[in-house]
Amino acid sequence: MPSLAQLDHAHVWHPFTQMKDWLRREPVVITSGRGAVLCDARGREYLDANSSIWTNLHGHQNASINAALRRQLKRIAHSSALGLANEPASRLAGQLVKIAACRGPRPGHPSSASTRPLLQKVFFSDDGSTAVEVALKLAYEFTRRMRGPKARPRFLSLRGAYHGDTVGAVSLGHIDLFHKAFAGLLFKADEVMAPYCYRCPFNRAKPGRADARTTRQCHWECVGKVEQALAGQKKRGEPYAAFVFEPLMQGAAGMIPQPSGWLPQVTDLARAHGALLIADEVMTGFGRVSTGGTESGPLSRKATPARTPLTACSSEGVQPDFLCLAKGLTGGYLPMAATLTTQAVFDAFLGEYEEFKTFFHGHSYTGNQLGAAAGLASIKLLESRGSVTARARLQAVLEESLKSLWALPNIGDIRQTGLVAGVELVKDWRTREPFLLRERMGARVCEAMARRGVLTRPIGNVIVLMPPYCTTPGQARRMVEVLHESVEETVAHKVRAFRGEL
Ligand code: PMP
Repeated sequence: MPSLAQLDHAHVWHPFTQMKDWLRREPVVITSGRGAVLCDARGREYLDANSSIWTNLHGHQNASINAALRRQLKRIAHSSALGLANEPASRLAGQLVKIAACRGPRPGHPSSASTRPLLQKVFFSDDGSTAVEVALKLAYEFTRRMRGPKARPRFLSLRGAYHGDTVGAVSLGHIDLFHKAFAGLLFKADEVMAPYCYRCPFNRAKPGRADARTTRQCHWECVGKVEQALAGQKKRGEPYAAFVFEPLMQGAAGMIPQPSGWLPQVTDLARAHGALLIADEVMTGFGRVSTGGTESGPLSRKATPARTPLTACSSEGVQPDFLCLAKGLTGGYLPMAATLTTQAVFDAFLGEYEEFKTFFHGHSYTGNQLGAAAGLASIKLLESRGSVTARARLQAVLEESLKSLWALPNIGDIRQTGLVAGVELVKDWRTREPFLLRERMGARVCEAMARRGVLTRPIGNVIVLMPPYCTTPGQARRMVEVLHESVEETVAHKVRAFRGEL
């Protein structure tokens, strides 16, 4: 094994990884990247089909971001935000506020967006978890200040939710596999049904060969469940402090997209029942899912920089009280996050020094100049006509290519929103029977994909395709082709073996 791989095995503990498995094989050691391509220490090339865990936007070694970082490095890399301001962080805050500005309610959904104050204040932190942690603490304390010190703020979040790994963010999540071990450390957040059309007990549609959202037959029971939860809590005497959600698509839950119309309905309900809205756009932000297109369809051909929203909330006419951004904030270059909130929340923390109304929370690298410089360059790229057009084209190519997968009997659902696709593997599409976790089907398919030069990570039985925006149509088609071949190789073989047909 090359020395770098040996060093890794000797000392590095990888996140979300069973290290016993890890130590059995030689790791892929990434040494460089360009555009959508990653290169390893053995000189092999791979397509980065999950954008380096959903962070990368414009590709690796992007010339504009590289140049912005070089310019910033000539001035300063970092100075503290405790007691000091700096240029790139101030500018970035201004840009983020602009991006988050809601363009008003969608036709047919008289969302409260137009009457809500804009998000005006930006609290910087380091990653998705801390962005959510900040929103949680602010919402908690804001609620106590509004309702009085006896208030016991409670939070409502979606089934299957994942909001990060700090203790507060874990408490808001509902993925047992990740969270059970830490139960003793956590506070209780309530869970409510999330839309998951493919496996929804209320969806009367038979399994088909189309995105389950588009064939669903139901009466919006999932919205009814949210209403019930909100009303129940209000009846018990104290409304929820906040409703926490990923807009348009739940990522780590399994790339589960929401049918068009769900988001404005539930956010209106939450508001009507006195809850603040915490939108976790750690995955969905910066153009990942905000397309202005149809439910599973492509970006409008008329998409223009001015018309293409960069957050899911702004594309849906939803104005949250807290907006959590991370991952793509720096284009995938550096760890940096932001929590945006309203003037009203900000004002509740104003007071004389001795009143100690300060928000006692912060991180050493808050407002880091390098991260902010990368963020500014990334936003400039996102707003360029070239990027808007490339995103539209990539989304359409992905959608067209994914259709070929319906021919495979082990594909249960293909769900694409914007530039994210989740492909759910099942034993048989007619029954929707899932593979057992211990079969590691998603992981095996991804291993087969890696052997063919495409890197991504599964979520259980769901294969994620989330290409960088610079991915060429040829590269996008190749990602899907490789997925097709890998499912054929891995799953079909496994299914036959499982049924004793071999
Ligand atoms: N929220 C969402 C929606 C996420 O997808 C993630 C990460 N997958 C997080 C929060 C946590 O982000 P991080 O890993 O950067 O802490």
